[in-house]
Amino acid sequence: MSRVSEEQIAQWDLIDPLVDKRQLFKLPEKGVYLDGNSLGPMPFSAAERAKEVLEHQWANDLITSWNKHGWIDLPTTVGEKIAPLIGAGPGQVICCDSTSINLFKVLNSALSLQTSRSVVLSLTGNFPTDLYMVEGVASLLGEDACHLKLVCEDELEEALTSEVAVLMLTQVDFRSGHLLDMQRITRQAHEQGILVIWDLAHSAGALPVRLDECEVDFAVGCGYKYLNGGPGAPAFVYVATHLQARVSQPLKGWMGHKQPFAFSQSYAQSQSITQYLCGTPSVVSMSVLDAALSVFDDVDMQQVREKSEALGELFIALVEEEGELTDLKLESPKAPQDRGSQLAFTHEHAHGICQALIDKGVIADFRAPNILRFGLTPLYLRYQDIRDCVQTLTHIMEHKIYLQAQFNVQNKVT
Ligand SMILES: *Cc1c(COP(=O)(O)O)cnc(C)c1O
Repeated sequence: MSRVSEEQIAQWDLIDPLVDKRQLFKLPEKGVYLDGNSLGPMPFSAAERAKEVLEHQWANDLITSWNKHGWIDLPTTVGEKIAPLIGAGPGQVICCDSTSINLFKVLNSALSLQTSRSVVLSLTGNFPTDLYMVEGVASLLGEDACHLKLVCEDELEEALTSEVAVLMLTQVDFRSGHLLDMQRITRQAHEQGILVIWDLAHSAGALPVRLDECEVDFAVGCGYKYLNGGPGAPAFVYVATHLQARVSQPLKGWMGHKQPFAFSQSYAQSQSITQYLCGTPSVVSMSVLDAALSVFDDVDMQQVREKSEALGELFIALVEEEGELTDLKLESPKAPQDRGSQLAFTHEHAHGICQALIDKGVIADFRAPNILRFGLTPLYLRYQDIRDCVQTLTHIMEHKIYLQAQFNVQNKVT
């Protein structure tokens, strides 16, 4: 492959249709932020809203804000803002709790519709919390009602049998970035009478998702990754309209009641998506997420996808140009259409390399045991940022800077 020229990189930035979005974010003055897949950076709109909620709504309007500033409707308002990003029509998405807790709810819902089956099928490489939540449900319902079965990806198809109650998958693998075919897998599962839960932690806000079109049953996802809702931002849950009157979930908090303010003594579940609420919404962080989502106004997710693929291809091409870097092995699929919006490389010194990059202002992350991960977030990353990142990486590899003692201290959060 011929070298990618400086002029070419500048030209790509010049004609980038998303170029104006970058100014909506607070980004480090120097360096490159490649960890938006783990914690999105702060949109200025989020900071303004936080100030407004604290200094005006809460400070002055106190409890009247529940009505006056629509606090009580935030889970629905924010859910409806997320819906178009994940291909969901109205009335199916609500914002609440964490992804883990929402998984607990939908796992129970799905299993309650499948009383003659007990297997929850997932992949060995799935994100640990997803698997742990199934273990938790199994400990409550008993192994006869909930039994976790894990297979590797190439065993998935043949594991879709009539024994399986629920298939629970993460659309984009958090380590490799491998993107699963939602439409095909969902169809194959449905052919066997299996209900499907998709975790969109690494796809919502990163690529076009088509939940309705793929006839997905349930989905969950994160607010603080590609949706830029801030640390610990609330998550979301999707339940297909046709299931809503048939399902229930066990966290029967008052906000899921059909009339929370009737204060009735027994639970009467809402028949809509609001039955997935449990307690009082986290108003401050949900308001921040609400404001942060405004960066997606008028964004065409297809354009985001195209730029994400182009950034990834540039990254790989630049790495391949560097002879010294050849011991960095691409762990992500080679074909851009098989990847989510991140790149993973393996190297025995991945941890040290990551620490050395961070020291130079290039923020990536490390995933045990040997993965170096770069999040590609087209709303604020430029092609020149990818070039800067690879230049820094080359320097670190060439001089083996990752071997220095200060880069080999293990932090609590990686
Ligand atoms: C990030 C992530 C989560 C996080 O769940 P929390 O409850 O928000 O901590 C869950 N699942 C997957 C696949 C993730 O990538």
